[in-house]
Amino acid sequence: MDCIFCKIAAGEVPCKKVYEDAHTLVFMDIAGDVDGHMLAIPKRHFMNILDCDEETLHGLMCTVKHVSEHLAAHCGYDGVNLLNASGESAGQSVPHFHVHIIPRKTGDGIDAWPVFDGAKLPLDETWKKIRI
Ligand code: 5GP
Ligand code: ZN
Repeated sequence: MDCIFCKIAAGEVPCKKVYEDAHTLVFMDIAGDVDGHMLAIPKRHFMNILDCDEETLHGLMCTVKHVSEHLAAHCGYDGVNLLNASGESAGQSVPHFHVHIIPRKTGDGIDAWPVFDGAKLPLDETWKKIRI
């Protein structure tokens, strides 16, 4: 499969590796948009959270937690933003499941939260449609 993150996971394309275990990999994002931007991926190909099995998801989130704890314990960071786009409609550009990790320091001035336009529907209307 012609997937850039599969190639990175297989070592066929180089990356700046931050952490690796049997099933997951964390490496630096090349975007250069914010200091410390990393991506956590499962080594197996899944498109996103919609087709990922629960065991893989569990392993990926444990890796995200492990790296986040390392950032806080040893690298001088106070928190993290975790971002994920699942599906083209959500802005996903690389179709291999990944969680963006952005390390944060108090007062760093990074704006990692989108500025939304404001809800178009009454809260109750959406809630009744999506509740399980
Ligand atoms: P998405 O828009 O799918 O949530 O994020 C994809 C991310 O992958 C982007 O932040 C982009 O910079 C990153 N990316 C795309 N190609 C490569 C690559 O070849 N190497 C690395 N390290 N990151 C990549
Ligand atoms: Zn892939």
